[in-house]
Order: sequence, then structure tokens, then C-alpha cells
Amino acid sequence: MTGQIVVGLYPYEAVHPDDLGFSKGEKMTILEEHGEWWRAKSLTSDKHGFIPSNYVARVDTMETEQWFFKDISRKDAERQLLAPTNKPGAFLIRESETSKGSYSLSIRDTDAQATESVKHYKIRKLDHGGFYISPKISFPDIGTMIKHYRHKADGLCRKLDRPCVKPQAQKPWDKDAWEISKDSITMVKKLGAGQFGEVWMAYYNNTTKVAVKTLKPGTMTVDAFLEEANIMKTLQHERLVRLYAVVTKTQPIYIITEFMANGSLLDFLKSDACGKLQLPKLIDFAAQIAEGMAYIERKKYIHRDLRAANVLVSESLLCKIADFGLARVISDDEYTAKEGTKFPIKWTAPEAINYNSFTIKSDMWSFGVLLYEIITLGKMPYPGMTKAEVMSSVQRGYRMPCPDNCPAELYNVMMSCWNSAPDDRPTFDYMQSVLDDYCTSTEQQYQQQP
Ligand code: ADP
Ligand code: MG
Repeated sequence: MTGQIVVGLYPYEAVHPDDLGFSKGEKMTILEEHGEWWRAKSLTSDKHGFIPSNYVARVDTMETEQWFFKDISRKDAERQLLAPTNKPGAFLIRESETSKGSYSLSIRDTDAQATESVKHYKIRKLDHGGFYISPKISFPDIGTMIKHYRHKADGLCRKLDRPCVKPQAQKPWDKDAWEISKDSITMVKKLGAGQFGEVWMAYYNNTTKVAVKTLKPGTMTVDAFLEEANIMKTLQHERLVRLYAVVTKTQPIYIITEFMANGSLLDFLKSDACGKLQLPKLIDFAAQIAEGMAYIERKKYIHRDLRAANVLVSESLLCKIADFGLARVISDDEYTAKEGTKFPIKWTAPEAINYNSFTIKSDMWSFGVLLYEIITLGKMPYPGMTKAEVMSSVQRGYRMPCPDNCPAELYNVMMSCWNSAPDDRPTFDYMQSVLDDYCTSTEQQYQQQP
């Protein structure tokens, strides 16, 4: 990217002295890449400074097009196109997940029964340049192809209408703000109380909405917490609640994270809003959690406390995993000892209870219980059983029966998580693919119509 010219997609007002503010359409040369913040020089004013990289696009490329969604997955294309802001005919172009450098067209469609779906078309390349979907007609570039299919369907499931609505870009977190001062945080509203403290909606520097978790003194030592927090901050993924900053110089410790407008998945499942949701939407929640856990698995990390209360729901009803790794640093006996009142026995794998053997496979056990919570809309697992009863019966091979309204296929997935032998439980990578395809498996992925 260095030396390349980019153009502002949105205006950006400089917040810090070393930031470069710009207007929409302003051109800049990239001097240096720094993850989310790049150093750039304006072509109009000659000023230079840091810019949020997601506010700009490379000039003379598809990145500047409204319909271009660079690196989203097939599944995310479906989620975004099916959002209520879009209508049938909404479309986008994305880079193919499987073959880099090639593209797919995704279109929102509807059938005679008004069932909404998304169709995907592979865009093929000609050896001597040019693109086509149907060999009948090819185009010099993708922009020309889109113009053609906006005019008539010509073999696609329907004519292209409007580009898929893009979520507004979020300003990335300040690059140097890790240990921040308590004064920079303004608490606004208490969102809830957990076992180890309270959670508040707050503003950072009076501008950025965040969630602040306050830890009751003695819950963990500052050193142990900081050691873990330094790992947690490097875990960045769309399906993980982002850890932004910490306050550890004064008690209580503050953990500053991304704010999630719809609270915990457990509360959401029990709410009326969720009662109206259909099984495919519930399975999609599980698929999103599996996606986040597959990332944790790739990073060789362990969650240790996966359950619906530790999954949060965003404004647009997407799930993100929270509180990953925190369990490891808690020094409260009530939580760490299996006899303690706070120990989540009903979610914990037998080998983790007995031998303290926490692995990604014990997380998979918990994921099975989380599937149960999702399907039952937030019922307490092992209903009517005490923790002690659960511990001894599970040890003897007891497993929860198939919940009402749960398809046998999905119950089998749950049961595979509860295999006594940890190695016989699936990987999250595999779990994600099973759940991603659960509702679309009957549909052709890349249909090519004559
Ligand atoms: P627990 O996981 O035991 O429920 P927590 O302290 O982690 O306890 O969270 C308490 C409650 O605070 C959650 O149930 C949720 O409603 C709310 N909460 C936690 N984190 C966030 C966040 N990042 N955004 C919005 N609400 C949150
Ligand atoms: Mg929590």
C-alpha cells in the first residue's frame, strides 16, 4: 500500500494533533501502514498525519464502489443482504473466500412464497482479460458487468437493483490509548451486574461510546490481569467483543470494551423480541459464535467460560463473544473452586471440573450447552437438577435429552460436543461449517442458469 494513492470515503475530523483530517473525496498518499491507523500525506494541503484506514479506499479500484465489499465471507454477504434495510435485487461483489483474486456476485432474491434467499454467482476470468458469469456474454470489467445486469436479468435470478447497504465505518480506537486515565471515562448508565462487578455504558473522551466493566477489588491481582489483558487485546475479530483499554492504576480496575446495544444473548433469548425469531435465525446465532470460537481456536487460545451470558448482541442483532480468558485470572475461590457458588458446573466439561484440564475441547463441551440455551430460548440447562446431581450423573454418562422443537440433526451436533473423550469432540472450524450450511445446504451455492 505504501506510496499508493487513496481517497476519503467519509470525512474525518482530526482528534489528535498527529492525526490528519480530510474531507470526502480528498486524495492522499500512503506513507506508512500501522494496522488500523495509517500515516498519509494529503495531495491538496500537503499536511500529513495518521488516518483511519477503513475511511479510505485505493483510487481507480473497485474499493471506491458502493457495491464492492472487499473481504466478507459468503455467510456474511447473506447476513448483510438479508438485513431489513435491503430489498430483493440488492447485490454486492465480494472477493471469493476460496480463490484469492477472483470475485463472486451475491444477490438477494425472493420466490413466489415470498421466501427471501441469497444467490451467489462465481465471476469467471477470461485468459486475455475480461469477466463473465455466463459464457454467453463477457465484459471488460466488473463495473460494466454490473451496468448490464442492472438493466436486465439476462439469466440471473433477477435484475440487479440497489447495492447492499454498507454499515457506517467505525472510527478505530486511538492507537496509543491502552492504559487510560479514569478521568477520560464518563459513566452514563448501569447496564447490569455480574458476579465480579458492574457493567456501565460510558463515554471515552466524551465522544466514543463504550462499555466499562468495573471489577470488585480482590477479584484478581493487577499483574495477573494485565498479563492476560495484553493477550486479550491482540485477539481482534468481528465475532469477538473488542477489548479497547484498561484502567489499573486505581481501584476498582476498569475494563473498557466495545458497547453492545442488545446486551447479553441470554437476556435476548428470553425477551419477546426473540420469541418471534425462527429456527434458522437461532442457528445463525450459533454459527456466529462458532465462527468467533474458530478464531480463538486458530489463535491457540481458550475461552474458559463460554455460555449465553457471555455472548453479547449488537444493534443489528449480530453476536459477539465476550469475557474470553478472564476466567483464568479470577482469584475468587467461589469461582475457581468447583465447590464454589459461582463455578459454572452446568457448562463445564468433566475433565475441566475434575483435573482442571481447560482446553479448546472443554470450550466445545460448553458450546454444546450453549446450543441448548439457544434452542430452548434461554432455559437453565439440566432443569430441576442441582449442580451436584449434574456433576455425578454426567460422570456416569447422563446427557440432557433432546429439547422440544429441536431437530434430531441439531441434537446430534449437541451430543457430539458432549463426548466423554475430549479428542472425539469436533473442532470449532468444523462446527462453523456445519452450522453455516445448516439452513442453506438444500440450496445450490453457485447456481448457473442458462
Ligand atoms: P455475567 O457474564 O455473569 O452476566 P458480566 O459482568 O459479564 O456478568 O455482565 C453483566 C451484564 O452486563 C451482562 O449480562 C450484560 O447485560 C451487560 N454487559 C456486559 N458487557 C456488555 C457490553 N460490552 N455491552 C453492553 N452490555 C454489556
Ligand atoms: Mg460476562
